[in-house]
Parts: sequence; C-alpha cells; structure tokens
Amino acid sequence: MPVTDRTRVTRLADRQVVDRQVLHDVLDAGLVAHVAVVRDGVPIVLPVGYARDGESVLLHGSTGGGLLRAAASGVPVAVTVTLLDGLVYARSLFDSSMNYRSVMVLGTAVAVPDALKEEALRRLSEHLMPGRWDEVRPPTRRELAATVVLRVPLDEVSVKVRATGASTEPDDGEDRAVWAGVVPLTLATLEPVASADAPRGVPVPASVAAAASRFEALRPELHA
Ligand SMILES: Cc1cc2nc3c(=O)[nH]c(=O)nc-3n(C[C@H](O)[C@H](O)[C@H](O)COP(=O)(O)OP(=O)(O)OC[C@H]3O[C@@H](n4cnc5c(N)ncnc54)[C@H](O)[C@@H]3O)c2cc1C
Repeated sequence: MPVTDRTRVTRLADRQVVDRQVLHDVLDAGLVAHVAVVRDGVPIVLPVGYARDGESVLLHGSTGGGLLRAAASGVPVAVTVTLLDGLVYARSLFDSSMNYRSVMVLGTAVAVPDALKEEALRRLSEHLMPGRWDEVRPPTRRELAATVVLRVPLDEVSVKVRATGASTEPDDGEDRAVWAGVVPLTLATLEPVASADAPRGVPVPASVAAAASRFEALRPELHA
C-alpha cells in the first residue's frame, strides 16, 4: 500500500503495516467503524457498522442522520476501525500498552446510487450478520428510501499493529519480581437470548448459531 504524507505513522513507525491483505483482514474482522467529519467547524466522530466491499468500505444509516448527510456532501472523512487484542502489563506504567490492529482511511464518501443500494445493504448485512439476509424478508421500498449507503474507497489508508508482549528492555528501577505480560482480549458471543415474543420451539436460526464460531475464528494470536 502506498504511504502518503498523511498516512505515515510517525510514532513507533515500525508498527505501520503496508500489506493490503492485513488491511483486508482487519476490516473483515471488525464490526464498528468510527467515522469523523468536521461539521459546522466542529469535529464529530460517531461509531457505525460497516463492511468492506472490495477496495472500499460501505457505511449506512438513516437519511435523517447528520453525520452521514455531512459525509455524503463530499467533505473529507476519516474512518477508523480498531481491534483490541490485549492489555499489556509492563513493569512500569510508562511502558504498559495495548495490543491492537487498527486501520485509518482518509478520503471522501460517495453515495451508492439507488439502483445499487440493495446489493450494498446485502453486503453490509452479510458482514455484520452473515446468513441473516436470507432468513428474513427483503427490505421494503420505504426502508430503502430511508437508508443512505456511502462508499469510501480504500485509496489513502494506514494500518498500525502492536502484537508483542511487554517490553523486556531493562529500565531504571524496574523490579523483575513484578509480573509482566499480556491479558488477551477478544470479542466473543454469549448464549443468544430469544425475544420475549418469539414463539416457543422456534429453533435458533443458522445465522445465529454460526455467530459464535465466527468470533472464535477471529481470535488474535497470543503473545508472551
Ligand atoms: C487501542 C489503541 C489504544 C491506543 N492508546 C494510545 C494512547 O493511550 N496514547 C497514544 O499516544 N497513542 C495510543 N495509541 C496509538 C495511537 O493510535 C497513535 O498511533 C499514536 O498516538 C501516535 O501516532 P502518530 O504520532 O503516528 O500519529 P499522527 O502523526 O497523528 O498520525 C499520522 C498518520 O499515521 C496514521 N496512524 C497513526 N496512528 C494510527 C493507528 N493507530 N492506526 C492506523 N493508522 C494510524 C494515520 O494515517 C495518521 O494520519 C493507541 C492505539 C490503539 C489502537
């Protein structure tokens, strides 16, 4: 991936990753993007669901929402996705850290035209809740009209990854008897909870059953 003046990681630059596959892997593992725009002179950052679609990310929301309306107007946007992989307990708080994989996308968003909106929504649905699209009714015309879908190309992008243990560099005054290491963090499902109005005996659908194993498969590597 090309690195521009705007996407060059300045602090701990060795954590910058320029492998496009890693970019795709992080975006495919995440569920929530934070989208930033400057609106009326004030920076606004909001979390939204997203999906990668080839070399772009899709964002969607209500046509009445301020953030996406601002983004659709062609102003610059920044989109970040962060996977939190661990808390790093070093022998000083200064060296303590987090393990993560994070992506930042800079660019402008374009609205997906009406004719392609349903397909884009299917892509979002298949990323956020794989299999669910085919289990429920299709979106209605009214729902489609009330939804805006934006596409942000993956043209100017940075990826930063920390995936190691606690610093083992000797430092002033550190106490080697103190435990140091990593507490891995991961996103996992718990037992699904059926809606109160769900008829008795309706089995958990395949999409819900598959959700647990999906997150199992996304567990990060463990680091000593
Ligand atoms: C979960 C998590 C917790 C963090 N906690 C802290 C913290 O407490 N304090 C702290 O100072 N830093 C923290 N960071 C790191 C932080 O995101 C920045 O990387 C860091 O502040 C310094 O970046 P920089 O000087 O290169 O930034 P800048 O010079 O402002 O950034 C230059 C360019 O580098 C790229 N870039 C920088 N950081 C990232 C990133 N994380 N992911 C993708 N692209 C990036 C962007 O394209 C950006 O435009 C954390 C990161 C994560 C993911």
